[in-house]
Amino acid sequence: MKIPFLRPKPPPLSRARGKLQEIEDSGVYSNFGPKNTLFEGRLIEEIFGGLGHCTTVCNATIGLMLAIKAVDTGRQSTGRRLALMPSFTFAATAHAALWAGMTPIFCDIDADTWLPCARSEEEILERFPGEVAVIVPYATFGAALDLERYLDLSKRFGVPIVVDAAASLGTLDETGRGFGTGFPFPVVFSMHVTKSFSTTEGGVIYASDPELIWRLRTMSNFGFGEPRRATMPGLNGKLSEVAALSALLRLDDFQSSIARRVALYEHYQNQLDGFVFQAQTAKRQAHQFAPVLTPENVDPAAISEALTVAGIGHASYFRPHLSEQSYFQENSIPLPIPVTDDASRRCLSLPMYEDMIQDEINYVCEVINTAV
Ligand SMILES: *Cc1c(COP(=O)(O)O)cnc(C)c1O
Repeated sequence: MKIPFLRPKPPPLSRARGKLQEIEDSGVYSNFGPKNTLFEGRLIEEIFGGLGHCTTVCNATIGLMLAIKAVDTGRQSTGRRLALMPSFTFAATAHAALWAGMTPIFCDIDADTWLPCARSEEEILERFPGEVAVIVPYATFGAALDLERYLDLSKRFGVPIVVDAAASLGTLDETGRGFGTGFPFPVVFSMHVTKSFSTTEGGVIYASDPELIWRLRTMSNFGFGEPRRATMPGLNGKLSEVAALSALLRLDDFQSSIARRVALYEHYQNQLDGFVFQAQTAKRQAHQFAPVLTPENVDPAAISEALTVAGIGHASYFRPHLSEQSYFQENSIPLPIPVTDDASRRCLSLPMYEDMIQDEINYVCEVINTAV
């Protein structure tokens, strides 16, 4: 049995010829056209309960770059300007801060939830007073962060927040609302083909503040606050109409696809003894794959080897973590982060795709349990 790590299944555009025809008939291919407008409207209604605003972007990395720039008050304009984030995340988070002229500083994570550790964040904010220009927490693997805590942190330290929620589109918070609902700062989601909200490339920035979303949208269109006149920083971060159509089609079957992923995840949980699963913080998490930590006394490389021999695709998000990667080592403030080091050493990302069947998970777990 051969099992890939992921088998992305974005909406089949070849079966949406009529809708593609509509784009051609409209003559509008980008620049917030009718498909994009329809998608943004539906997203707010169907995921965020009609509360707040959003603007699409061509991918979440550009979304993070725009968001970090947009919330930057320039307060710490002399000397170092630090972007506080976990090292247990994807390269995009740190790159986005560096593009905004900031220096990443990495906090540790919580051992159970793998989310940024509150104590570690506060220690850094206290140790570098006035130097942290933005906090960029990552909602690890589609989890829900405690956004109330970040609002409080922002007030106490006078620092804006940008949430890297790349994998959390469709995750429900504790109260059952779409993760991010009502948050005044930018929450950046990815619609990359490998994420659970799978399109081709794309992203969306959510915030409850309409002014901020208008600004982000303007920044993503060359900063043209007036016709053909740049009035603020800008770049081209727009989503094409074809990509917006893909996102619209995704919305149609999204709830059932998340439910499917939750069922697959639970099937893994029931069969892997001694492996550590992420402590859940969401009422429903949009699982992209099944991340686990190998048991303390087991060599992760041996498990990986056994999976490879059995023809089972897998990955190791996030090994190496950011502060182990040379470019970020050269361009960040190094601090000890022992929990991250341990989780990163033991992490193993197991296969998941929507048409995966339970027998395939049984096989993966059998191979792993045998190797242990
Ligand atoms: C996927 C991902 C991104 C980047 O999203 P793109 O849409 O591919 O640019 C950023 N941060 C994290 C944590 C991610 O997992």
